[in-house]
Amino acid sequence: MKYTDGKNIMVYAQSADGAPVGAALETVSKAAELAKANGEEVIAVVFGKDTDTKTVITAGASKVLVAGEEGLQAEEKAQILVKLAEKYQPKAVYMAGTPEGKMIAPAVSAVFESGCVTDVTGITADGVYTSLSYNGNVLNDMKMGENLPHVATVRSGSFAKKLDESRTGEVIAEDASADTVRTKVVETVKEIAETVNLEEAQIIVSGGRGMGNKENFALVEELAEVMGGVVGATRPAIEEGWVSRAHQVGQSGKIVAPKLYIACGISGATQHVSGMIGSGYIVAINKDEDASIFDVADAGIVGDVTKILPVMIEEMKKRKAE
Ligand SMILES: Cc1cc2nc3c(=O)[nH]c(=O)nc-3n(C[C@H](O)[C@H](O)[C@H](O)COP(=O)(O)OP(=O)(O)OC[C@H]3O[C@@H](n4cnc5c(N)ncnc54)[C@H](O)[C@@H]3O)c2cc1C
Repeated sequence: MKYTDGKNIMVYAQSADGAPVGAALETVSKAAELAKANGEEVIAVVFGKDTDTKTVITAGASKVLVAGEEGLQAEEKAQILVKLAEKYQPKAVYMAGTPEGKMIAPAVSAVFESGCVTDVTGITADGVYTSLSYNGNVLNDMKMGENLPHVATVRSGSFAKKLDESRTGEVIAEDASADTVRTKVVETVKEIAETVNLEEAQIIVSGGRGMGNKENFALVEELAEVMGGVVGATRPAIEEGWVSRAHQVGQSGKIVAPKLYIACGISGATQHVSGMIGSGYIVAINKDEDASIFDVADAGIVGDVTKILPVMIEEMKKRKAE
C-alpha cells in the first residue's frame, strides 16, 4: 500500500479519560502552523465518541475524525489510522511521542513503506525533521523519502500548545475498525496502570540511588508535595522499591519537560538525562562535585541530600505560610 501524492497533516490526538493529552495538543498546534504555511489543514483523529473534540479544534484541527474507542490497543488504533490515512491521503501523520505513540507510529509507516522519525523536536514547513541523539548532544536533521505519509512522533514539550477559542472545525464520525488483532492483554498490573502525570508536570522533584533508602526518599516526595510538583525517579530508585515504576524518568521511562526539574542524588547517566534534558531549569543536588548531572544543570548544589532537602522543605513551607 503506497502513495506519493498527499495533502494535509493527520494528527492522532491521544486522549486519557476523554481529554486530549497535553503533548497531543502541542502536536496539533505545531501541525496547524505547518499546514497553514502550505495552505493545507490539520485532520485530527480521536478515539472514542466522548473525547473532547472542541479542544482539539481549539488547538488547530480543521477536521476531527472520531473512530473506535479510547481503550483500544495500540495495534488496533494503528490499523484504524492506516485506514483513515488511506482514505484521506495526508502528506504526514504525527502523534505525541508517548509510549503508545511510539508503538503506533512505526506500525503505520511500515504499511505505507514510508519514513518514520521518532522524538522529533523540530519540523519545518518543507519537511525537515529534527530529532535528538547522543543524549541530546547531537541534533539530526532528516528528510523522509517519497512514499507518504511521513510519520513522526513529537517529543513532549518541544512545541507550544496554542489554544484559540475562536477556531471552528468539523467533527466527522468514522466507522473504521481493526481487522485482525494479534496482541492480547493477558494481565493488567496495577503499578503500570497507575497514572503519574509526569509528562504534564510543571515541577518535578526526582530522586536517585543517592537518596540511600526508602525513608530518605520520602524527602523527595515531601519536597514535591510542598512545591506542588510530581515525583520522578531513576531506575535504581525504582528497583530498590522506593517508588513505583510509573515514576521513572528516562530512556525506558517517561520523557519529561517541566519548567523546573530538581535532581536529588542522581549521577546523570545518559539513560536518565535523555528523559529530562528538555526541562526548562535543572537543579542538581549531589555530594560528588564531578557528577555528570552538573554538566546539564542550570544550578548545582554540592552536598548531602539528606541535609539539603530538609532545609529546602522547611524554606518552602515558610514561604508558603507568608
Ligand atoms: C537499556 C537501559 C535503559 C535504562 N533506562 C533508564 C531510565 O529510563 N531511567 C534511569 O534513570 N535509568 C535508566 N537506566 C539506568 C542508568 O544507566 C543508570 O544506571 C541510572 O540512571 C543511575 O541512577 P542513579 O543516578 O540514581 O544512580 P547512580 O548512578 O548510582 O548515582 C547515584 C548518585 O547519587 C550521589 N549520592 C550518593 N549519596 C548521596 C548523598 N547522600 N547526597 C547527595 N548525593 C549522593 C552519588 O554521588 C551518585 O552521583 C537504564 C539503563 C539501561 C542499560
